[in-house]
Amino acid sequence: MNISDVKYIVIHCSDTPNEREHTAADIHRWHKEMGWDGIGYHFVIGRGGAVEYGRPIYWPGAHVRGHNHESIGVCLVGRDEFKQPQLSSLKSLVKALRNKFNRARVVGHRELDSAKTCPNFNVQEWLTAVESLNEDF
Ligand SMILES: [Zn+2]
Repeated sequence: MNISDVKYIVIHCSDTPNEREHTAADIHRWHKEMGWDGIGYHFVIGRGGAVEYGRPIYWPGAHVRGHNHESIGVCLVGRDEFKQPQLSSLKSLVKALRNKFNRARVVGHRELDSAKTCPNFNVQEWLTAVESLNEDF
């Protein structure tokens, strides 16, 4: 994908039990087992806040029906309760991605696919909250 192709930065969750840690390598293995070419997300944020690379950005992801050709996928490990270090890494990553892809809108998966609840929190409310906490976000 070229920088100008990226219209969305899509936030996901791994939909795995909140108490369990997983890595990008685990998700890569699961997605291969589903018959995909490998991990469908571009970034994974572990429970402890570690940011790992998944699929390279030049390669369209496999994470959101109908929008893979125009989006970056970010996956938070967990289901519906995210840790402070994770959310703080998400904030830094989103900030960096918005600097690079300045035409992209940050959305939750469910905003682009009404059949989904992922990432199980309101990304727009989160964005508003972090933006009001930090003026140079
Ligand atoms: Zn999702």
